[in-house]
Amino acid sequence: MDRNGFISELRRVFSLCGIGELLSEEAESRLFRLSEYLVSENEKYNLTAVTDCPGIILRHLADSASLSPLLREGASLLDVGCGAGFPSLVLAILRPDLRVSALDATEKRVRYVASAAELLGLSNLTAICLRAEDGARGEMRESFDFVTARAVARLPILAELCLPYVRVGGSFLAMKGSGGELELSEAGKAISVLGGKIEQVRESTLSDGQGETLTRMIAEIRKISHTPALYPRHFSKISKKPL
Ligand code: SAM
Repeated sequence: MDRNGFISELRRVFSLCGIGELLSEEAESRLFRLSEYLVSENEKYNLTAVTDCPGIILRHLADSASLSPLLREGASLLDVGCGAGFPSLVLAILRPDLRVSALDATEKRVRYVASAAELLGLSNLTAICLRAEDGARGEMRESFDFVTARAVARLPILAELCLPYVRVGGSFLAMKGSGGELELSEAGKAISVLGGKIEQVRESTLSDGQGETLTRMIAEIRKISHTPALYPRHFSKISKKPL
C-alpha cells in the first residue's frame, strides 16, 4: 500500500461523503497504519473480505466515520459485535474526545482490536471479549451514552443486544444497509418493550465517485425508560423468539 496514494484517496472519498473535516494529519496517518495492519493480519485473524485499498476506504473507513456527526463531544460509545473494529477503531481515531468500548464474542478479533489500538497509541479505546447478552447483565448495563452495531444481526434481535447497555437519555445508533426500513418496522415492538423510541432515521449514499456506492441508514433509537430486568434473554431465546 502506497502511503501518499492512500491518503489522497482517503481525502477525496471523505470529502465526497461530506466528512472531510474529520481528517487531521494525525488521523490520516493512523487510518493508513490501521489499513496496512488490517491487511497484514487478515490471514491470521480472518477479519474482512474487503482488502483492496478503495474498498477499505469506502466500506470500512468512510462508513464507520459517517456515525461521527451523531456523537456528542466527550460521549461514551459501545460498539457491539465490533469484529475487526468497525466502526469503533475508526471513531476512536477520528474522535479522541470519545471514550470507546469495542465488544465482541470472538476472542481473536478482540485480540486484534486491542493490538491495533496499542499499535496506534489509542488510549481512548478498550476492547472487551464478551457475548453482548451476558455483558448487559453486569456493571455495563445502562451505562453508555451511545451504543452502536454494524452487520451483527437483524434489528429485532440487535435491539435486545444493544438497548440494555444504553443509559436512559442516551441512544442506540443502528447502522444498516438498504433493508434497514423493513427491519425497523419489524423491530417496533422490541424497541418499545426495551425502553426505546425511534428518534430519527438518516439515510445516505456513500460514494467514491468512481461507480462504487453504498446505501446506508442510521436509525437513532432514544432510550426513554429503563429496560425491564428480564432483558436481554439467553441468546437462543432472543434468536428463536425475537420480541
Ligand atoms: N461490526 C463489524 C463490521 O461491521 O465489520 C463486524 C461485523 S461481523 C459480520 C459480526 C460480529 O459480531 C462478529 O465478529 C461476531 O463475533 C459478533 N457477534 C455476533 N453476535 C454477538 C454477540 N451476541 N455478542 C458479541 N458479539 C457478537
